[in-house]
Amino acid sequence: MGTALICILGDQLTHGRGALKDAIPGRDSIVMAEVTAEACYVKHNRHKIALIFSAMRHFCRELRSMGFSVHYFEYSSRGPATLLEAAEAALLLSPADEVRCCEPGEHRLREEIAAWNLPVPVHIIPDDRFLCSEEEFQAWADGRKQLRMEYFYREMRRKYRILLEENGKPAGGSWNFDAQNRRGWRARESVPARPTLVPDCITAEVIELVNREFPDHPGNLDLFYLATTSQEANVHFDWFLQHCLGLFGTYQDALAEESPWLFHSLVSMYLNIGLLDPLDVCLKVERAWQDGRCGIAAAEGFIRQILGWREYVRGIYWCAMPEYARRNTLNAKRPMPEWFWDGDTDMRCLEVALRQTLDLGYAHHIQRLMVIGNFALLAGLDVEQVCSWYLAVYVDAFEWVELPNTLGMALYADDGMMASKPYAASGKYIQRQGNHCKKCRYSPTRVAGDGACPFNALYWYFLSRHEHRLKDNPRMSMVLGNWSKKADSEKTEILVWAKQELERLAPEWTP
Ligand SMILES: Cc1cc2nc3c(=O)[nH]c(=O)nc-3n(C[C@H](O)[C@H](O)[C@H](O)COP(=O)(O)OP(=O)(O)OC[C@H]3O[C@@H](n4cnc5c(N)ncnc54)[C@H](O)[C@@H]3O)c2cc1C
Ligand code: SF4
Repeated sequence: MGTALICILGDQLTHGRGALKDAIPGRDSIVMAEVTAEACYVKHNRHKIALIFSAMRHFCRELRSMGFSVHYFEYSSRGPATLLEAAEAALLLSPADEVRCCEPGEHRLREEIAAWNLPVPVHIIPDDRFLCSEEEFQAWADGRKQLRMEYFYREMRRKYRILLEENGKPAGGSWNFDAQNRRGWRARESVPARPTLVPDCITAEVIELVNREFPDHPGNLDLFYLATTSQEANVHFDWFLQHCLGLFGTYQDALAEESPWLFHSLVSMYLNIGLLDPLDVCLKVERAWQDGRCGIAAAEGFIRQILGWREYVRGIYWCAMPEYARRNTLNAKRPMPEWFWDGDTDMRCLEVALRQTLDLGYAHHIQRLMVIGNFALLAGLDVEQVCSWYLAVYVDAFEWVELPNTLGMALYADDGMMASKPYAASGKYIQRQGNHCKKCRYSPTRVAGDGACPFNALYWYFLSRHEHRLKDNPRMSMVLGNWSKKADSEKTEILVWAKQELERLAPEWTP
């Protein structure tokens, strides 16, 4: 084997995997670069940029301590602006027989690297950090009319023998314990305070750089809360196992005034950049259940998110790209309102979700899906703009996971490939799941007129607009039946109000 220059991207920070699999210190060299092209293709949250740059610098230090020669380009206007320029510069410093790169997680970058023209061949290595390969997912998907996550998830449970009895039956007698989960938040439990991390000098330096170089990106780095090494991420995860896992399922869908994260794990960003290993995380949760540290509903609920949903959305992305990104089944084209970028709205649930998103780069699943996503769906906001917003604002956003969740699950723009029905809900759902409505100037029980919760009229307007498309979906028949049973005068009142509210909240023509 000749010498290799190994290119490590900011979300590929796992030792011994991907392009680092057969790497040998002293023979192979490594290139890592903080480049404008990656940091600025959308207005990434500053927490995300700080996390990635700091984690890259820590990873570089670890690689050097293992004996690797690493060409590390810190963010600078004089340094390489693209990954290609970084690879070219590193090749001049360390000539090699080949360039090796693990396949990027975004289609855009995969195309870009495939087109690299370097003096030596470029070899793309499959990403072995996922639990289901792209080929395996494709084989599962082939010939199926519907790609439902639940069936995929069962296959994965069997493959990894997780939460499985000796006889192949699911542990606890069921594949899915969702019915026991998902209680609304009534502020009866106290939410454990998350441990805080004091940034070390690498992170402190990166925070200063990000504040200086990305002044118009969202994110308040005075609140930086993220682990930047695998060791720290594991400490965070162990803390979650001890303090939150027990109530994870119960409050998985809850919406709270008191806490941005409730009992959620905050591990997506670490999994997505390679600081945590998905199988390891699932096995630790299974062990917690076996040791009696949590119930089966909590363990199964958590494992399903990672072994099921996370792998499934990646499978969908690679099966359907690049055409997937252009889909817009419901023809949603209304411009996204400006207040998505500052959270300045008097709808309390949205204000809370948007402000924490912008400040921290984090919102939990139900805030992303049933508050922000639900509003975007009901209002018919432009699919491309909304997807690009989600890609920008969250710390854990990478297109392979962000796009199917936003375009498919939240916006129903893929004609039901991801979701068996639109996740559309009125204010009553939001009221049931939490306590935001108590602090809101609107009333979740009123549908039209001053003070009525805008989600309510928008919900009926959405159903009436898309009735013809949704009428054959059995999961929509009850709500569509409820709409059609309303008197014409009531329908008219709701629709007139909905259109007026929509124009106020998200004007069709922004000046
Ligand atoms: C519109 C929308 C956009 C989203 N964008 C992203 C994104 O850019 N990046 C991202 O990692 N997740 C995304 N998700 C999925 C999910 O909301 C986040 O993974 C989760 O909120 C992260 O917080 P947590 O680590 O505390 O998760 P927990 O609630 O503690 O869940 C545990 C883990 O399960 C995995 N998981 C749970 N649900 C999903 C899902 N639907 N898809 C993939 N993985 C899942 C994540 O790795 C997560 O860390 C999105 C969901 C929606 C509805
Ligand atoms: S009343 Fe409506 S807008 Fe206000 S918090 Fe409740 S659901 Fe949200």
